[in-house]
Amino acid sequence: MSEFSRSSGPCGGGGDSHDPAGCAEVIAEVWTLLDGECTPETRRKLRQHLEACPECLRHYGLEERIKALIATKCKGEKAPEGLRERLRLEIRRTTIIRGGF
Ligand SMILES: [Zn+2]
Repeated sequence: MSEFSRSSGPCGGGGDSHDPAGCAEVIAEVWTLLDGECTPETRRKLRQHLEACPECLRHYGLEERIKALIATKCKGEKAPEGLRERLRLEIRRTTIIRGGF
């Protein structure tokens, strides 16, 4: 049920087709990271997406911060409060603009 067998990846495969649904899904995953969980699956998903379509996160200026967050979280450290708060605000704004939520 939770396997993503329908389409093998949000932006994977094609190069040109930028899938907004996949991007919104990935951005939603970042919430999980903010709340303190970094599973290998989440990390791989985000990393993959950043590599597959960096433009989507860069467009919102989130790329650098999410990279930093992944690096921090996956080392088992706590993300600094400032980073967390700013990401929360920016992600919320992003998802509102996109109408994803
Ligand atoms: Zn994307």
